[in-house]
Amino acid sequence: MPYRTIIEPFRIHSVQEIALPSAAEREAALERAGYNLFNLHADEVIIDLLTDSGTGSMSDAQWAAMMVGDESYAGSRSWYRLREVVCELTDMPQMIPTHQGRAAERILFAEAVREGDVVPNNTHFDTTRANIEYQGAEALDLVIAEGRDPASEHPFKGNLDVERLEAVIADVGAERVPMVMVTVTNNSGGGQPVSMENLREVRAVCDRHGIPLFLDACRFAENAWFIKLREPGYADKTPREIAREMFSLAEGATFSAKKDGLANIGGFLAMHDEELAGRCRNLLILTEGFPTYGGLAGRDLEAIARGLEEVLEEEYLRYRIRSTAYLAEKADAAGVPIVKPPGGHAVYLDARTLLPHIPPSQYPAQALAVELYRDGGVRGVEIGSLMFGRPQPDGTEEPAAMELVRLAIPRRTYTQSHIDYVAEVILAVAERAPSIGGYRIVESAPWLRHFTARLQPV
Ligand SMILES: *Cc1c(COP(=O)(O)O)cnc(C)c1O
Repeated sequence: MPYRTIIEPFRIHSVQEIALPSAAEREAALERAGYNLFNLHADEVIIDLLTDSGTGSMSDAQWAAMMVGDESYAGSRSWYRLREVVCELTDMPQMIPTHQGRAAERILFAEAVREGDVVPNNTHFDTTRANIEYQGAEALDLVIAEGRDPASEHPFKGNLDVERLEAVIADVGAERVPMVMVTVTNNSGGGQPVSMENLREVRAVCDRHGIPLFLDACRFAENAWFIKLREPGYADKTPREIAREMFSLAEGATFSAKKDGLANIGGFLAMHDEELAGRCRNLLILTEGFPTYGGLAGRDLEAIARGLEEVLEEEYLRYRIRSTAYLAEKADAAGVPIVKPPGGHAVYLDARTLLPHIPPSQYPAQALAVELYRDGGVRGVEIGSLMFGRPQPDGTEEPAAMELVRLAIPRRTYTQSHIDYVAEVILAVAERAPSIGGYRIVESAPWLRHFTARLQPV
């Protein structure tokens, strides 16, 4: 590239209108939604950064591939096509399509994890944790200490703490550890990458104890790009070569195609073990469908197959990681506290630092998320005490470790000016931070309350 400006490596071919509701409409929407942004009508949002899951834009080639999808119940051509792409990428001969990542998790854990087992991971994604706990097993987070420090600039904050892994295996015994997982990139830890060196070390520990290593590979391509940028020895390798090396270290992988599959729905479970895969297929038939479609239409399988090819293109990955860093840099330059360095798919605003006058019991990150919507119609998501606070018997609450607002960037969906707009909204809200007040919960469910809770300004 002769010039410094990194451009979106696509042009827009089909558009969807977006509009900003008036200030009065936004206020009314907030009141109706109980100050919970999950309750908004998506049309009431102008820039939607709630999640990057399934919200990306497909290419013309993906749409074209959907037209040739084979909807045969069994042995669909589209399944063979996806299997070939996955096999070529992972070298794993067993590929089981599923309707989402969590279906792959549920099927894998139902067959491989028993009550009383312990499953270590750098940080379990919430559906992964829930599916392990559903089997009566323990989901253990072993990310390195830097991964829990918002200010640490460690290049691979998603790395798993290998010493602690050894200690856990020694403590509970290898027979109670049915698998070790590593999430690439580490979503719940801020989309932070894992180094190849760390994957190799984890694999060596697994080999010493005869434990299989599974990747939660939802953002494998973004992780491969970070390795290329940051890990010595990888600058001249292609993202595909790096991804193949990552997969070569694992026995199997769970995958949500709604992330680096560049599709709007789908996922898969892949592995080497033919016997375990056979049992997983039998379970799949019970809830997901025949093993050659796994709850997806043939056209979805085509879109994922094509997406897995496009996601490894260097121009795409350069734009993708740059567009996240661009928003982070704008916020940082204006003195808005964020988690550093920015990860692959999202920017995290640190509400505890920005709103020190709001105690965790009044949900500072929720207050910040509400203001971003009130001011500019931008929707992010609270990742703080509303999501993770633990109610105590005496009516108080143990706060979350951090009070963050996550702004997740959908793939290939917003332009640079959209992001400039988001930055302007963040800066305007930050400027009047001292005037922002907290919230209290007036209605909430016994679990996963952040999805449905209703709140009131204090
Ligand atoms: C999204 C995600 C999942 C779950 O995938 P779904 O398709 O949403 O079911 C699991 N792990 C990680 C790291 C994810 O980001």
